Amino acid sequence: MMDVEALAQGLNRLSHNLWWTWNHDAQELFHELSPRAWQNLYHNAVAVLHELSDYELRVRLLDPSFAARVRDVLARFEDYMAGEKTWASCHVPSLTKNPVAYFSAEFGFHETLPIAAGGLGVLAGDHTKAASDLGLGLVGVSLFYREGFFQQSFNHENWQVEHYTQLNPASLPMEPVLDSRGEPILDSIEIATSRIQFQLWRVNVGRCHVYLLDTNRPENEPSHRDLTLHLYGGDKTMRIMQEIVLGIGGIRVLRKLGIEPSLYHMNEGHSAFLILELLRERIQAGHSFPSALAWVKERCVFTTHTPVEAGHDRFHFDLVHYVFGDFIKKLGLSISELMALGRVRPDQAGEPFCMTVLALKASRAANGVSELHGRISRRMWLDLYPGKTEDQIPIGHITNGIHLTGWMKAATQRFWQGKVGPDWQSRFQDPDFWKCMADPQFVTDEEIWALRFQMRRELIEFARRRLLLQDRRLEKRDFISFDRLLNPDALTIGFARRFATYKRAPLIFQRFDDVVRLASNPARPVQFIYAGKAHPQDQDGKRFIQHIIHLSKYSSLQGSLVFLEDYDIHVARQMVSGCDVWLNNPRRPLEASGTSGQKTAIHGALNLSILDGWWREGYDGANGFAIGDDSHPDSVEEQDRRDSENLYRVLSEQVIPLFYQRDEQGIPRQWIARIRRAMATLIPQFNTWRMVRDYARKYYQPDAS
Ligand SMILES: *Cc1c(COP(=O)(O)O)cnc(C)c1O
Repeated sequence: MMDVEALAQGLNRLSHNLWWTWNHDAQELFHELSPRAWQNLYHNAVAVLHELSDYELRVRLLDPSFAARVRDVLARFEDYMAGEKTWASCHVPSLTKNPVAYFSAEFGFHETLPIAAGGLGVLAGDHTKAASDLGLGLVGVSLFYREGFFQQSFNHENWQVEHYTQLNPASLPMEPVLDSRGEPILDSIEIATSRIQFQLWRVNVGRCHVYLLDTNRPENEPSHRDLTLHLYGGDKTMRIMQEIVLGIGGIRVLRKLGIEPSLYHMNEGHSAFLILELLRERIQAGHSFPSALAWVKERCVFTTHTPVEAGHDRFHFDLVHYVFGDFIKKLGLSISELMALGRVRPDQAGEPFCMTVLALKASRAANGVSELHGRISRRMWLDLYPGKTEDQIPIGHITNGIHLTGWMKAATQRFWQGKVGPDWQSRFQDPDFWKCMADPQFVTDEEIWALRFQMRRELIEFARRRLLLQDRRLEKRDFISFDRLLNPDALTIGFARRFATYKRAPLIFQRFDDVVRLASNPARPVQFIYAGKAHPQDQDGKRFIQHIIHLSKYSSLQGSLVFLEDYDIHVARQMVSGCDVWLNNPRRPLEASGTSGQKTAIHGALNLSILDGWWREGYDGANGFAIGDDSHPDSVEEQDRRDSENLYRVLSEQVIPLFYQRDEQGIPRQWIARIRRAMATLIPQFNTWRMVRDYARKYYQPDAS
């Protein structure tokens, strides 16, 4: 009985550590305990355990074979948590003692905790998971959005509708942060003339902790309770207040918990107010403003994520003046001195306060997220560094990656486990390992092709199920015949991401008749799966969605074009694994990096993309497909025209012929050669193990800069 008790406790502890989200053996245990709950509660281990009585769980654990599997998973989990000889302890030992404090307005860990809006949050989640794998000291700071990011559905006009549901913290994989008496640890910040209380949640991500601040406290007036209600909801006032909670509140949390970071890493400008709190601490301790600023500057690094103008928060004088009413007195600065910190030209009275400017002024180093984006950022912020030339601007780059194990489907994980053996996880972290993809003995063409068919079928069955639910919700059905919907043998092209207009989702349909002709060739069918959310205020993005859904229902593409609703991490995982080709056609150079295409290679899919962001570095001529070349015209109209031409040309002349060029056994050898090359060249480069190692060496170490 003792053993059963210990196993039950172990499962409970495991459910509260997101390690299970990148281990399918662990997920399988929770799935088996309650298949319905696992599905209905969106793959949530904590909620599954809540579904079972203590008695039922104990009885299940009396089954020796189930208990043995639980014991095995728990042993691996404990091993992982205890691991002493890690990459960080060998290479950056100083960073295991005093952690890096990593601030981000969003974190995308898993579908069950919907507090991310897109790539930025997913990157933050993947950064944390890799830091844990590498044994790097990292503490994350963010907000708990009680209603998260919105869920998406479509109405009769095929127009996006946003829904919000309350999350219940008790059944999420996170824990309240309590003091020794079991009471919530509280702290407060001052905004305008009010004092706002917040409480804390902790998400355990392997060996790393992420703290989420939450203003939903009974002491606060209703509008302040709702400050952390939605991710990127509300107006500018709401936004600046959220950013005060994140930046200033976040520093107070670290102090309260006795965490002494060696460094503060701002993932995008939303958290840059942390600089003001660090300044306040130094100034109130008696230091002059210049010496305080110099001190802060030694301890901050900043990653900028977009060259898109709207991606940089800017606040007007009146708003800044209002929200910092009380705080500014403690800072000992005048309002114009404060404004100057956020201005390119400090004396320009009309210039708003820009979070990116603040972050750049107070960081010892900054970076963009790809080589091209680094260059664009240096040009963009040239005016901030008078007298310097473009190549002297202190903005470098580290290209983004993905947490490889977290993006694998169960079937993919089993496939690789079978090939590589039980130590596959650590072998995957070794860049040299991927050279084995050149060896047809290690994995045969036939095995790769079979994996592709399994992945595509899983996606198509998922899509049919989702579309049936989507369709049922509309009273007037747009009837789609389901036996005709999507073809499990057809070349499947996927496009899914935020529907920001610069990403040009409908670009391929500019040559609509030609695309129809390609898609409906019975000998070489092609089909398209789309998904993605537009920001609630982005009417143009919503029009893009409407246009594509319209084509999927009422044009000759019916049955071979679908739009899946409510894109999130779960839908993303289905799509990046099931599609044969992952399409990305942003308006260059606005895709700072892009990461969704990096999630595909491990499943044997190929990229078809503009040479922007990461793909400009990843593409080598034989590991996928490029749209156009390493240049772009100045005019937007010219660019759109040229890119849609090039997209059509590469699709009709390269992608489709290669996919359907089969030998006597029915195997497309040339296509599979590209898959091998993609695996060998892309996987070892574009993952967050490489990325976090780069950050540690180039930005986090005390002597780095
Ligand atoms: C990976 C991912 C993204 C980022 O996609 P991009 O193509 O890089 O913009 C956005 N949303 C979700 C849910 C993702 O998983």
